[in-house]
Amino acid sequence: MSKLPNNSASIFSVMSQLANQHGAINLSQGFPNFPEDERLLQISERIIRENIHQYTPMAGLPSLLEKIALLTQKQYGRTVNTNTEMLITAGATQGIFTTINALIGAGDEVLILDPSYDSYEPSVLVGGGIPVRVALNEDYTPNFNRIEEAITHKTKMIVVNNPHNPTGKIWTSQDFEALETILEKHPQILVLGDEVYEYITFSQPHISFHTREKLNQRTIIASSFGKSLHVTGWKIGYLIAPEHLMQEIKKIHQFLVFSVNSFSQHTIAQYLEVVDFSEVSRMYQKKRDLFQSLLKDSRFELMPCDGTYFQVVNYKNISTANDVEFAKELILKHGVAAIPISVFYKEATDRQMLRFCFAKTDETLIAAAQKLCQV
Ligand code: PMP
Ligand code: GLN
Repeated sequence: MSKLPNNSASIFSVMSQLANQHGAINLSQGFPNFPEDERLLQISERIIRENIHQYTPMAGLPSLLEKIALLTQKQYGRTVNTNTEMLITAGATQGIFTTINALIGAGDEVLILDPSYDSYEPSVLVGGGIPVRVALNEDYTPNFNRIEEAITHKTKMIVVNNPHNPTGKIWTSQDFEALETILEKHPQILVLGDEVYEYITFSQPHISFHTREKLNQRTIIASSFGKSLHVTGWKIGYLIAPEHLMQEIKKIHQFLVFSVNSFSQHTIAQYLEVVDFSEVSRMYQKKRDLFQSLLKDSRFELMPCDGTYFQVVNYKNISTANDVEFAKELILKHGVAAIPISVFYKEATDRQMLRFCFAKTDETLIAAAQKLCQV
C-alpha cells in the first residue's frame, strides 16, 4: 500500500541531481549560492560552543519566539501571543504538512491554486483530504470566479502562496478583498498562507495575511528563515495562527519533530537583533535586473517577476519540445539547469515555460546567461 502512489522524487531533487551529474550551472532548485552574512557566521561560531545543545521547549526557543513576535509587530503591526499563537517548524515544508494534517480530515476538500508548490497536494493526500486544483488566470493572477465555483460544503481550506512560486506574482489588496468577500459566505473555510518569500518583493510591498483582520481568526501563516535569511539547509521556519488552530497544530508537531534543532534557533534569535529585512528585496532586485538584462538578447521570452527569486521564461521561439524534455536538453546540451513549469500543475500544460532561480552570485548568473544566449 502506498499513501502517495503517484509521487516519486521531487522535481527539485531530480533537476539538482542531473545538474550535478553533468556539471551544469544549477538554476533549478531554489537556493542561494552566495556566501552567508559574516555576522551570522560569527554568531554561529560563538553559539556552537555554548550550552545550547539539548531540546528546546516544544513550540520553540522562547527568545526566538519573542524576536519573531517583535518582527511581526514591526513588519505588519500585528501583536501575536508567543505562548499560544506561534510554532517554530523544521522549515515551512513541515509547517505546511503539519498544519494540513492537523486541520484536514478524511474527505475534506482543499483548494490549491495552480501552478502550485509541490508539497501541498501530498500533504493533503496523506491526511485523507481531497486536493482541488484551481487554475490561476493566464497571467497568474487569482481567478475568483473559478475559486468560488470550486467551493462545496466539503471545502475546508484554501492554500494561498504569496509571493508566488514559481511565477513571481504577488497579490494586490483587491485580490485580498475578493477572497474576503467569498470567504465571508463560507465561515468553515480556513486559509493557509504560504508567505516564505515575504521579504522578496520588487514592484509593490508584500501584503501579508497578518494585516487582513477579517481573516486572522481562520488563517495559518507559514514563514521560512531558509528563504528570508538565505539558509535553506538549516530547515527552520515558523507558523503563526490563532490559538484554537495552533493548539491542534502543536498536537501533531510534538509527535512529528517535538522540537526544532536548538543550534539554529539560538543563532537566529541573536541574528534577528541585527539583520535588516529591507535589504533582502533590494539585493534580489539587483539580481533580477542583472539576470533579465543578461537575457535581453536571448531567444527566451521573460515573464514579469514581481517577487520571489524565480524568473519564468517562455522558450516557444526555441523549441517545440515539452518543458520536461527541454529542461533535460538544456542541462545536457547547454549546461544550465532549470525547473519545467508543467510540474506545478495537475493537468500538464503545453505552455513551454521554465523557471530559473536567480539567487546566485553575479558570476554564476553571468556564466549561465552566456550559455543561455547561445541556445
Ligand atoms: N513554500 C514554497 C512556496 C517554497 O518555495 C518552499 C521552498 N523553500 C517552501 C514552501 C518550503 O520552505 P522550507 O525550505 O523552509 O521548508
Ligand atoms: N522551494 C524550493 C524551490 O522551489 C525547493 C525546495 C525543495 O527542494 N524541496 O526550488
